[in-house]
Amino acid sequence: MSPASALLKAYLDSSPHTLLISQTTDSALPSRKHLICRLKSQSQTEVMMMPEKTLLPQEEYQMDLDLLDLLKKIISFKTVAPPGSNYREIVDWLVPVFQEMGFASRRLVMPQELFASRCQDSRLEGDRFNLKADLDVGADKTLVIYAHLDVVPAEGAWDTDPFQAVQKEGRIYGRGVSDCKGSIAALIAALRSLLKTGRPRYNLSVLLTTDEEVGGYSGLCYLTDLGEVKGDMMLCMDGFCDDVVIGSNGIITWEATVHGRSAHSGSSFLGINAVERSIPVMQALMSLKKEVQSRRSAVPSSSALEAMGMKSLKPMLNITMINGGVKENIVPDRCTLRGDRRVIPEESMEEVMQELESVLKPLEAQLDLKFYPGYPPMSVNPDHPWVSEVREAVQRGMGFYPRLSGAQGSLDQAYATEKTGIPTCVFGVGRQLESNIHGLNENVRVSDLMGFARFLIELLQA
Ligand SMILES: [Zn+2]
Repeated sequence: MSPASALLKAYLDSSPHTLLISQTTDSALPSRKHLICRLKSQSQTEVMMMPEKTLLPQEEYQMDLDLLDLLKKIISFKTVAPPGSNYREIVDWLVPVFQEMGFASRRLVMPQELFASRCQDSRLEGDRFNLKADLDVGADKTLVIYAHLDVVPAEGAWDTDPFQAVQKEGRIYGRGVSDCKGSIAALIAALRSLLKTGRPRYNLSVLLTTDEEVGGYSGLCYLTDLGEVKGDMMLCMDGFCDDVVIGSNGIITWEATVHGRSAHSGSSFLGINAVERSIPVMQALMSLKKEVQSRRSAVPSSSALEAMGMKSLKPMLNITMINGGVKENIVPDRCTLRGDRRVIPEESMEEVMQELESVLKPLEAQLDLKFYPGYPPMSVNPDHPWVSEVREAVQRGMGFYPRLSGAQGSLDQAYATEKTGIPTCVFGVGRQLESNIHGLNENVRVSDLMGFARFLIELLQA
């Protein structure tokens, strides 16, 4: 980085009230007369910044570089899932934003009949508007960039309005600032900046979709099955900026119903107690859990989990729900256990279901077992050139060479990666241990937001 770029970076990183991005090239620097600074006498390298109000009046900048304005606007759409609201409104706003940058933008709306058959979730309602924006610059390769438009609900006692991006002490607070609307704002700001002076090195295909937060089908999975996920490599911005994620666990939800026969509890020997019969089922599941959870993937775990001593992805078997019985003095005729199985990339979804079945079927209890396979596991070759390309762009844009890791959770990205075979990196703006994603006062560091925009420029510029 040149001294002038370093100066600009120091200024941007230290100015929590003026949120702008700039390419880290000298030509993109604001004119020097505005960069008022003085050097500390004891060190020529430390820069003291003037108070914000005397620096770089906002009107000196072109507003289209204003990341905060973009983020405020995007956060203001209450695209909460469930139920999945305001998708039409946010996509209607985004279509011209991309068109003005020369993209061909399309609304990909899931037909109601398909929504009714594929997304049987009574919590969901309304239309499913997804956005696809393509820019053909005549390059050999196409990069697919993906993020989801929905956010989890924002109940509870927030310190600020969750649907207004509020800036305080170097952070921005709001539902979705980290997961993952901050990355969408940074993408638009980065593209505007980049397209002003140059062109991207790849054709771009931007996918902004619905219902990720409910594990839904209507977004990226639907576009995948439509054949709309087409390219040579993919950046999923639904991640965090601690690591570049190249793997994730798959998920299978299971349900085991133990049947019995009801009777008066005073003569319980006349019935079959389904709750008591479920005890050996749970014991069998617990011994399988022990075996399953002793396995390890070759995919390293996130830096946050590594710091807790967990080196690589781990499969999980959980019993998370139990329902049975109607009254204390009635022998219950039914007990239902539910849970999930997290599947490491080395396991197959099919084998995992067979394994569970083989453990439960021999038991005496009369049992119905159902599986609901969700997203598959994902594992991208860490030596793929795309992975290095992303890491190097992070190094240039954000100043560190990121670790590679996997996610214990499950991603809709994995569905697209499995079906299309496109090599994928997952990288976003939030931080695992401090952004409070899905919680109260979700936040993002201003410096990470700007760093992410710089990373995108480094990744995309020709
Ligand atoms: Zn997300």
